[in-house]
Amino acid sequence: MERPKTREELHQVLRERTPKSGELWKSSQDMVPGGLLSEARRFEPYPFYIERGQGPYIWDVDENRYIDCCLAFGVLFLGHRPPFVVEAIRAQLERGTTYGGPHTLEIEFAKKFIECVPCAEQMLMCNSGTEATMQAIRIVRAYTGRTRVAKFEGGYHGWHDYASFSISAKDEAKLGPADHPIPVPESAGIPNQVKDTIMVLPYEESAFQIIEEHASELACVMIEPVVGGGTIPASKEFLQKLREVTKRHGIMLMFDEVITGFRLALGGAQEYYGVEPDIATYGKIIGGGLPVGAVGCSKKVMQSVINVDFSVAVAGTFSGNPMTLAAGNAVLTYLMENRQLYGELAKKGDRLRNGFNEFARAKGLPSMMTGVGSLFQIHFREPPIVKPRDLLTERAGPLRDFQVYLRLNGVFIPWLHLAFISAAHSDEDVEQVLRAHQAAIAESFAANKEA
Ligand code: PMP
Repeated sequence: MERPKTREELHQVLRERTPKSGELWKSSQDMVPGGLLSEARRFEPYPFYIERGQGPYIWDVDENRYIDCCLAFGVLFLGHRPPFVVEAIRAQLERGTTYGGPHTLEIEFAKKFIECVPCAEQMLMCNSGTEATMQAIRIVRAYTGRTRVAKFEGGYHGWHDYASFSISAKDEAKLGPADHPIPVPESAGIPNQVKDTIMVLPYEESAFQIIEEHASELACVMIEPVVGGGTIPASKEFLQKLREVTKRHGIMLMFDEVITGFRLALGGAQEYYGVEPDIATYGKIIGGGLPVGAVGCSKKVMQSVINVDFSVAVAGTFSGNPMTLAAGNAVLTYLMENRQLYGELAKKGDRLRNGFNEFARAKGLPSMMTGVGSLFQIHFREPPIVKPRDLLTERAGPLRDFQVYLRLNGVFIPWLHLAFISAAHSDEDVEQVLRAHQAAIAESFAANKEA
């Protein structure tokens, strides 16, 4: 095939490959603002509509097949439709989809979760990662009697008001000094007062001094152990120091393990790094493909839910619904019985990251792949990338085109976002993902010579 050379030619090839998606995209924009249910689902020249998924692949409505490295934004750790998960969902369907009362699956699920998550002596269930961080923030505030929550620049903790600051902001002028960032709201509609409940920390050593200075105000410091804004793994020393400083001041340390939970290790980032937070939030993998969220912490902290003057309200019509827990129990059981899988996936991830980074270095291309284990993200600037601010100097043109070229090469990664491999990706699939990355980067730099 003649390879497209300009952005317009490139988009034209995709339009020709995805005519049905193009029609659906047009009709959707009449009914849904911008045609998208989430900004994270955007694509150029428009998104493709998905028809089905199986193992490591998805097919769009035009019958194009892609190796799926989005995997529902990290939900599908075992790929699409593992037979034992499909069977568990089918069996539960025969008994009812949701009850609104306690059922045995919640006991089974809580037991497995607590067995795997080092910081969890008790847990709560909800329906998304966003709900989990909302709930955890309420718990730490009730427990400590303090209001302010510190988060790191570049960290994503769901889309509610209390966490929607300084995630993807690219305007350096608004971000404040690198060692003293100011909270930048990520959305219109967040009350100005909420800003005062948040503190944004730099993802570097200077954070510790800021924490010390404001210790008496802080209910918690929350962190993604692998920062989502750039897929930048924290160092063990950084997390250890964070643990030490928060403990010294009676500030709760919260790990947001919505991405890392049951992914970096069975016990998540806590196990992987050997650092135990006071409270941790979960989502994605543990629902087996259905909506889920969870919070785990000690019994002592969880008592604030039932044992303060105004106890912490927890609710949710669908929280702990049996469909989710049937699927979730199937996945947790599988992971508990197949721990070797974590080592295998880390090897595949290393092969992809090292293969790509060696290629970029050998060709002299200013690009690198960050990540750890099964997580990876492509960047268009030279290494090192150690904090989200390093991404301000990315080359936007080639990065944009890269993702489109990658799709032409049969691989789907979400737009400007971290990407994943699953246990369903074979070594050969990973090699194909690597080859597609190598082809796409060469093409996108060739098309952006002036950039
Ligand atoms: N925390 C982190 C670290 C996440 O990555 C996400 C979602 N990508 C969330 C919270 C929010 O989860 P959800 O989309 O399920 O609300």
